Amino acid sequence: MGEDLNKPEYEIPPELKSSVSITTLDRIYNWSRRSSVWPMMFGLACCAIEMICAAASRYDIARFGMEVMRPSPRQSDLMLVSGTVTKKMMPLIVRLFNQMPEPKYVIAMGACASGGGPFKEGYNVISGVDNYIPVDVYIPGCPPTPQALMNGLITLQKKIDTQSIREVRWYKKGASETIPVPVLGPDIMDPREYDLIRQYTNQKLQNIDDPAAQVARQEKGS
Ligand code: SF4
Repeated sequence: MGEDLNKPEYEIPPELKSSVSITTLDRIYNWSRRSSVWPMMFGLACCAIEMICAAASRYDIARFGMEVMRPSPRQSDLMLVSGTVTKKMMPLIVRLFNQMPEPKYVIAMGACASGGGPFKEGYNVISGVDNYIPVDVYIPGCPPTPQALMNGLITLQKKIDTQSIREVRWYKKGASETIPVPVLGPDIMDPREYDLIRQYTNQKLQNIDDPAAQVARQEKGS
């Protein structure tokens, strides 16, 4: 796309060069979206403090047109997951994500949101928010600095620059995919994995009922 912009198919007359520029619809569309990404306002743990810092005068995400943190998912373009994601919080995050209109993006800020961080495989923590919702940009660190967050936002802008209105999912026919909200019981369950869970449970039950399996277990001393 960049080459097309630099080398338009026809010459602009010299007298118009200072007042006319040639570009593509994609470029205009992406430029306007990338410069006004509104993040949803919520923070989950210590990473959120760095996110708050990034909004203050020293770093100032207003430079990116991103300072308008919205208190409602219905007015947000960007879910900035900053902090430890607990099993209790995950159903709410998925519900908020579903309530955001397209186009929408997700940034996993920090080790916790990206993969569980220092609490990975803790009894109450999700090992990465991408187990449930699609993540566009991951920011490493514990916590990432405000500069790292800036870098993540710029990376997101670069990703937006590569999109084309002919291909993006929100201009395709049919509704956007809604992610099933996980169910929190004794543990968290993803409705998309019900078949797998049912299969595993049946297998376990069969082993319990199978006398040969019982004998084998006794022989093993389990
Ligand atoms: S990545 Fe580190 S700083 Fe961020 S929420 Fe997890 S423990 Fe806190």
